[in-house]
Amino acid sequence: MEHPENSAEFAGLVVNKGVAQPSSRNPYLRRGSFVRRKLTASDYVEGILKGDSSVLGQAVTLVESTLPEHHQIAQEVIEKCLPYSGNSIRVGISGVPGAGKSTSIDEFGIHVLNEYGGKLAVLAIDPSSERTKGSILGDKTRMEKLSVHPKTFIRPSPSAGSLGGVARKTRETIILCEAAGYDKIFVETVGVGQSETACHSMVDFFLLIQLAGTGDELQGIKRGIMEMADGIIINKCDGNNVEKCQLAASHFRNALHLFPMPDSGWLPQVLTYSGFYGIGIKEVWDMVYAYIDFVRQNGYFDHRRAEQAKYWMYESINENLRDSFYQNPTIETMLKAEERSVLAGEKTSFVAAKQLFDTYLALLH
Ligand code: GDP
Repeated sequence: MEHPENSAEFAGLVVNKGVAQPSSRNPYLRRGSFVRRKLTASDYVEGILKGDSSVLGQAVTLVESTLPEHHQIAQEVIEKCLPYSGNSIRVGISGVPGAGKSTSIDEFGIHVLNEYGGKLAVLAIDPSSERTKGSILGDKTRMEKLSVHPKTFIRPSPSAGSLGGVARKTRETIILCEAAGYDKIFVETVGVGQSETACHSMVDFFLLIQLAGTGDELQGIKRGIMEMADGIIINKCDGNNVEKCQLAASHFRNALHLFPMPDSGWLPQVLTYSGFYGIGIKEVWDMVYAYIDFVRQNGYFDHRRAEQAKYWMYESINENLRDSFYQNPTIETMLKAEERSVLAGEKTSFVAAKQLFDTYLALLH
């Protein structure tokens, strides 16, 4: 039908006839061709060994998943990658929020890639209960240079679960990254609580970032954490902070002399640097590599990794036992009742625990 506005009454105004509109769907597209094929364990392994970072990322997602079917395939992938792992230098980097971890990691990463080549993975351990001040560890936006570097894989901390669970996932991710050819692994952790111990138990060198304070910086730092450190580095040694940092460094050096010599035979060093201005970065990494050479020669490098493997075997056993106990439906129901009796003072905690455990053991038979 002609358009009504084309009548003489509206002369001068021509409205063209419409044309049939094509379908908004592509008729040549085969149905379902956009649906991503599910990868098998072998597909993952093949991609990882080829160094495909997208497949690596997907495999890490599987490792982090809490779904039982993902767990099974993730374990298979890890097992198959295991023979190709281990060939790396693993460095733990710890410090309180604001110490300058991400600024430093950005500088450190670029330095080691330029100086030593290879590929770098930056992982993190940050159980949600310890997540402080809103900063997410391993967040790409906090590492401007590294996040766009083609030889870098950055992964934020798996967020769900207990510290043990989060740390285990990071450890498994290390295996996958190494199999994908990442020969430098940084594990970032926040300097509060237990996550440092977990980080220490999966790295070759534990680097502790400290700040110069008002002269009492040694007060707030736990002895155990200082004993874990293979190197203490005092950040923000720039501007009018230099003197304070050097003073803090000498305090740390003096304190370290009071500790017994570590098993590695390496006396931890204390250095000052500025992550923001890129001062003293080379010296930090000369120290790390000097340590690696030293412990490779005296055999401690392999010894520490073997001890860590043993530690993680026990950690896995403990985690499995805990899950098996707490996820048992009978125990779950009984726990609530027992908890009430203990709270009401009707039973002692020991009696309640024993009854629960005896029930659990009986259920196993
Ligand atoms: P993180 O929470 O430990 O990751 O710390 P950030 O790397 O986010 O740094 C916290 C703040 O300290 C930021 O405002 C940085 O710009 C600043 N900062 C980091 N490194 C240095 C440094 O070497 N010198 C100075 N003056 N400031 C720094």
